[in-house]
Amino acid sequence: MKLAVIEGDGIGREVIPAAVKVLDAFGLEFEIVPLELGYTRWERTGTAMSSEDLDTIKGCDAVLFGAVTTVPDPSYKSVLLTIRKELDLYANIRPVKPLPGITGVAGRNDFDFIIVRENTEGLYSGIEEIGPELSWTKRIITRKGSERIAEYACKLAKERKNRLTIVHKSNVLKSDKLFLDVCRKTAAAYGIEYGDMLVDSMAYSLIMHPERYDVVVTTNLFGDILSDMCAALVGSLGLVPSANIGDRYAFFEPVHGSAPDIAGKGIANPLAAILCVKMLLEWMGESRSRIIDEAIAHVLQKKIITPDLGGTASTIEVGNAVAEYIVKNV
Ligand code: ATP
Repeated sequence: MKLAVIEGDGIGREVIPAAVKVLDAFGLEFEIVPLELGYTRWERTGTAMSSEDLDTIKGCDAVLFGAVTTVPDPSYKSVLLTIRKELDLYANIRPVKPLPGITGVAGRNDFDFIIVRENTEGLYSGIEEIGPELSWTKRIITRKGSERIAEYACKLAKERKNRLTIVHKSNVLKSDKLFLDVCRKTAAAYGIEYGDMLVDSMAYSLIMHPERYDVVVTTNLFGDILSDMCAALVGSLGLVPSANIGDRYAFFEPVHGSAPDIAGKGIANPLAAILCVKMLLEWMGESRSRIIDEAIAHVLQKKIITPDLGGTASTIEVGNAVAEYIVKNV
């Protein structure tokens, strides 16, 4: 197993080393390929990511990624979007599950659902024209793109509570009719209990009734917005992991960005990055991944927590405490 490790910028350079320590605690055979990409690299060399870097990434099986600060260059192409596209990582997966003893904006912890977002088309097609009087972006929905994300979501629902919610805006966006039809058909073929919601009602419902949902499937932009909103249900951006999955590769990244305001202070919460390691191990079929939940529950109970959760522990202290628990109990 070859794993590209990209710390990136800002707190990515702090949370990823903590996550790698947790990965090491499992004693698995990994070939780690460190890569420097992003803003700091651009400052040093004038390039945020080269085609050789992409080739190196394509020579790996998976990627553990921190965060990249946007480069202030009009010709800059997003490192993240480029990798997602080049590796055809069509499914963006965000588990939304509370951690023990932590409640977010809704003040509740009785929910456990996953947002499955189509990651390659929709309004992020990249087909756009920008002018002083008229700017437009093309929204692409294809049968193939809708089918593969619907299949991914249905397989996931089968392993869980067998329930799927399809989120769309087909009353206004006619392109969403294709997405909705394909998702309905796929869910029926898989024998899954399914329903659909308009994205605006869904935003309200996710805050008011998050316990109703199991697997939620939606298009690119809606998924992007809903899943960041759901980080507030969990309690801190520092707690939410995500995965970008394709047929060949997988890419794991915390939902938070490079957080320049706290970078370099050693206080970033590494739990989102550590939960990315859990998702990586699950993707590999490693059943011991579950011990990461136990280890996190242990450190939370011992109040080894960073300032965003009201504690005084450093990023390294939290990472070490999780890793030590795993070494002892795995
Ligand atoms: P970027 O430009 O890279 O997106 P950002 O600061 O705009 O960075 P985020 O990194 O997502 O966006 O962070 C938003 C705020 O949330 C930060 O200012 C920071 O205070 C807080 N935050 C994000 N991640 C963490 C973390 N892991 N631990 C603690 N606080 C965090």
